[in-house]
Amino acid sequence: MIEMEDVYKKYPNGVWAVNGISVQIKQGEFVYVVGPSGAGKSTFIKMMYREEKPTKGTIMINGINLSKLRTSKVPLLRRNIGVVFQDFKLLPKLTVYENVAFALEVIEEHPRNIKRRVLEVLDLVRLKHKARFLPSELSGGEQQRVSIARSIVNYPKIVIADEPTGNLDPDSSWGIMEIFEEINNRGTTVVMATHNREIVNTIRKRVIAIESGRIVRDENRGEYGYDS
Ligand code: ADP
Ligand code: ADP
Repeated sequence: MIEMEDVYKKYPNGVWAVNGISVQIKQGEFVYVVGPSGAGKSTFIKMMYREEKPTKGTIMINGINLSKLRTSKVPLLRRNIGVVFQDFKLLPKLTVYENVAFALEVIEEHPRNIKRRVLEVLDLVRLKHKARFLPSELSGGEQQRVSIARSIVNYPKIVIADEPTGNLDPDSSWGIMEIFEEINNRGTTVVMATHNREIVNTIRKRVIAIESGRIVRDENRGEYGYDS
């Protein structure tokens, strides 16, 4: 469960990116976050995994109050939240397998479990056959599938994605959405900021629209609602 109560975010330059957001997202929901550029979508989702701290208000993630979370406990929170970025953020010198295994090696998971889990998630994103490839040898869609595999290799309860299809062609984007749907069908909460109108209007889910740092619309099976 993700809960925000009257959350505000002011950046050091004086910009109020989030201006009083209260919201509840239940375990297992699939939520699109839409709105114009600069509306505060990224800031809204960055606060969920403590990449940014709120200036005011309360954020609870699975019962943990992020405002009270010590910096030393942030890695523990991140283990329960997978994050997927528009630009993949893969390590270029590591293979597909190694990129995914890295997250488990950091937490000193047993080598036998690492191999099993990495192959399991690579199978889920249909890239087991490219385990030995480097990111530069993959298409954009494939690189994003690796980054999704990496985000779920810890079996997090929540996956947060910031414009995951922003750099991809339509075909690859639909493939990425299939994977997110599958992850969601297994009970994982998915929160996705997106400008992809086609996808939002076709794969209907809850839509939270943000403008000027406020929620202006929140609908189940909602529409994208903007012209571009
Ligand atoms: P969106 O994701 O909807 O495009 P953002 O959350 O990135 O919106 O940005 C919201 C507002 O906060 C914008 O005015 C943006 O310029 C500003 N902003 C975002 N990140 C920072 C930052 N690190 N420092 C200062 N201002 C920022
Ligand atoms: P996707 O739809 O997954 O994005 P593409 O249609 O772009 O995939 O690519 C099709 C095939 O071409 C993929 O199997 C991929 O491995 C291969 N490919 C694409 N770009 C490269 C590259 N830069 N180097 C090697 N193989 C590539």
